[in-house]
Amino acid sequence: MDHFELRGGVLYAEDVPLTAIAEAVGTPVYVYSRATLARHARVFREALSILPRFEVAYAIKANPNLSVIKVVAAEGFGADVVSQGEMERALAAGVPASGVVFSGVGKSAVEMIAALEAGIGQFNLESEEEGVELAALAAARGKVATCALRVNPDVDAGTHGKISTGKAENKFGVPYDRAGGIYARLSALPGMNLRGLAVHIGSQLQSLDPLAAAFAKMGDLMRAIRAEGHSVTHMDLGGGVGVTYKAGDVYPDPQDYAAMVARVTADWDVTLMFEPGRVITGNTGVLLTEVIRVKQGVVAPFVVVDAAMNDLARPAMYDAWHDFVAVRPNGRTMTANIVGPICESSDTFAMGRVIDEVAQGDLAVFRTAGAYGATMASTYNSRALVPEVMVDGDKWAVVADRIQPATILAAERVPDFLKD
Ligand SMILES: *Cc1c(COP(=O)(O)O)cnc(C)c1O
Repeated sequence: MDHFELRGGVLYAEDVPLTAIAEAVGTPVYVYSRATLARHARVFREALSILPRFEVAYAIKANPNLSVIKVVAAEGFGADVVSQGEMERALAAGVPASGVVFSGVGKSAVEMIAALEAGIGQFNLESEEEGVELAALAAARGKVATCALRVNPDVDAGTHGKISTGKAENKFGVPYDRAGGIYARLSALPGMNLRGLAVHIGSQLQSLDPLAAAFAKMGDLMRAIRAEGHSVTHMDLGGGVGVTYKAGDVYPDPQDYAAMVARVTADWDVTLMFEPGRVITGNTGVLLTEVIRVKQGVVAPFVVVDAAMNDLARPAMYDAWHDFVAVRPNGRTMTANIVGPICESSDTFAMGRVIDEVAQGDLAVFRTAGAYGATMASTYNSRALVPEVMVDGDKWAVVADRIQPATILAAERVPDFLKD
């Protein structure tokens, strides 16, 4: 459910017609609905409330906009971060340091020190080497790093290869068979409070079965580690729940996910931790764009829009589908290819798709663009960095400016040896 609806023939975000935002801010622009965002966060958290003890940290990388984090934090979420930059955003948005989980396969010493100084709640260790380094950094500062060990359960998430993270050949976590030994060795280090295990097998999962299989394996590992005399009080089950991008596709809802977790973890006696990203923000945003022109094609016409792969990378990166709908649909449809202006064939949003009929100057949106949208934007082809707007009832505000090419150009320097 979301708050992007047709009213009187015009697509609205809550009580604001998207035409008004396009007129004031220009296109392309991301538009987020605060009500949809708060609702998704609340529904997910409420679904988990069947569990005895849990904490939930929003995976910032899905949408790191300061205002987005603020709305999610107000619903009782901590933050899962994968860089110092994300940590600083979470703290700036008001997430308490104790609610920050630091994940990521390449935490640098500088980042680990900053996180120790900030007093974050948990580090999710990706390797024994990282744990040894972190423990030493903590001990040298008279601190103790609270940690979980990320394990690679060697389970196929059944999602796109580029967003699959839980197969043995992926770079994430420590191998399942070595995790017990690593847990024992790291637990013995001064500066280290190793309190649990973490797992995250991938993103945009359509089936709960691979998650259930991975969690069951983690339960076996937890029991084996406890049998060796070590304490396991926290189990971090990651994120990964998918969302519907294509009208008609069916994805698990938070209630089904929570019921599966409750079943698999019934006898674990731990605090469960979760790191949802896409399921919180995916359906809360659209990318609003204008049709530059419609160009004849050999098979189908090309609808050239002013949004491109630098604004929304998912179709180019993951062959992802985003529904495309007109802001003022005229009731007719056309079969077309939807492309951006960038000089790459991969700057293609759809081929041979039946869409609302559009013509030069018409506005349209790519739906379900609230996760892994603006956060992946670049300025490739010296385009502006795409701005973001949040709507709240009949109010709206720009929550991230359009960074113009001239601003980026102004940050470049010509060295003396090139001056004549
Ligand atoms: C990306 C990521 C998440 C969030 O994944 P979603 O599919 O957006 O829910 C959670 N945990 C870790 C460690 C991640 O890298």
